[in-house]
Amino acid sequence: CGIFGLVGGSDAANFVALGLHALQHRGQEAGGIVSYEASQGFNSARRFGYVRDNFTSQSLMQTLPGSLAIGHVRYSTSGSKGPTQIRDVQPFFGEFSVGGVAIAHNGNITNADALRRELIERGSIFQSSSDSECIIHLMARSLQRDIPARMEDALRRVEGAFSVIAMTRTKLIGVRDPLGVRPLVLGRVGDAWCLASETCALDIIGADFVREIEPGEMVVITEDKGVESHRPFRPQRPRFCIFEHVYFSRPDSLIGGRSVYETRHQIGVELAREAPVEADLVCPVPDSGTPAAIGYAAESGIPYGMGIVRNQYMGRTFIEPTEQIRNMGVRLKLNVNRALIEGKRVILVDDSVVRGTTSRKIKEMILDAGAAEVHFRIASPPTAWPCFYGVDTPQREKLLAASMSEDEMRDHLGIDSLRFISLDGLYRAVGEAKGRDDAAPQYCDACFSGEYPVAPSDQIEKGFQL
Ligand code: 5GP
Ligand code: SF4
Ligand code: MG
Repeated sequence: CGIFGLVGGSDAANFVALGLHALQHRGQEAGGIVSYEASQGFNSARRFGYVRDNFTSQSLMQTLPGSLAIGHVRYSTSGSKGPTQIRDVQPFFGEFSVGGVAIAHNGNITNADALRRELIERGSIFQSSSDSECIIHLMARSLQRDIPARMEDALRRVEGAFSVIAMTRTKLIGVRDPLGVRPLVLGRVGDAWCLASETCALDIIGADFVREIEPGEMVVITEDKGVESHRPFRPQRPRFCIFEHVYFSRPDSLIGGRSVYETRHQIGVELAREAPVEADLVCPVPDSGTPAAIGYAAESGIPYGMGIVRNQYMGRTFIEPTEQIRNMGVRLKLNVNRALIEGKRVILVDDSVVRGTTSRKIKEMILDAGAAEVHFRIASPPTAWPCFYGVDTPQREKLLAASMSEDEMRDHLGIDSLRFISLDGLYRAVGEAKGRDDAAPQYCDACFSGEYPVAPSDQIEKGFQL
């Protein structure tokens, strides 16, 4: 998911809408904004669909006045049951004796089922099926006198991955879990402060990037006092999601002072070194494979070409929740540029293979177009384990790499060769010159390694085996 919040100036909600639009790649199912203005109190709007189709209407935006607002774009992850319902769309709102609070959460709470059971037992009335709602109920039960302190209480009970943006009548609050699995950045525009999932959302409103919120840090921001930093959690060694570098973030964002584009380009360079092959054309599976394909072509000296053209009016296929739509999605989204492909030995570069749906369809299309050979090069290691921290991966059985070796996957897909970047190669590409430190890995890479930095306790209870 994508989250954005702003305090200061006027019409905060308009900035939030712009920020969310820049974060749309992080979630396309639905979006919501909450704002606060003294005479009207809290206002909220939650809608299905794209930000640009909802939060551009004058009549809607007029209902969201004030100098403080937060918002969320939603992409439902493994925890969710069935399609999104409007009650699952964030921000969530709660009214306590100490005042109101709205929260927007990116990530996944790995002990949400257990917390929910306990909270319901003790009288909480849940409105949604979302794991994020636990935070509100835990806050309601806290005995602390102010909202930031209640939030600290609540989040100390929560396990898993969370970047949270919250607001009260006067405060904008941002928190990252102790491992800092999901991103969150701080920006400044004029007299206003903002928090966003990624720096590309600062660019769109002309805000300066100030810094990242640190893993385990909570910032409380007010118009008069500016940014106060708290440390509610026991310090731990950070484990940022390495897949943000590969796929999830936008290539024009900065992570850890590094351009995501540069990193993806470097992944392509590493891949060309690790897995060279004789061919006539390097072709990206757009858009997610593009920077790595450019890097692969640069390093190998094989010409780069747009052998597959993407229909810009389709969203991210993966983010479509049902298998059937995803199956259709590939053809609706991608088409082969026959003139470029015919008779050529083609290297296709994609970011990941999950179920193998995309690769299988693309292979068919490329062979139909008359390619002489098809070689796949993948910008991440085999995805053999589900993510329980906010990226939607299917159950382990559906992951191609869970049951097949690289060569078996190659034969299953019916292609001439298939190679994935090594885990060490990926670490080098993100800037770890010595590769992965196996004794204390620098990132979360559980979907590739099966080493989960936070035990997925709800899943284990349901029978998931590590
Ligand atoms: P598959 O078709 O193999 O199931 O999925 C792989 C494709 O899904 C890739 O092209 C990748 O760009 C895209 N994708 C989108 N979202 C995700 C995600 O959350 N995780 C992974 N691993 N791939 C994703
Ligand atoms: Fe990211 Fe994979 Fe870890 Fe999930 S399991 S947080 S996708 S690295
Ligand atoms: Mg893709």
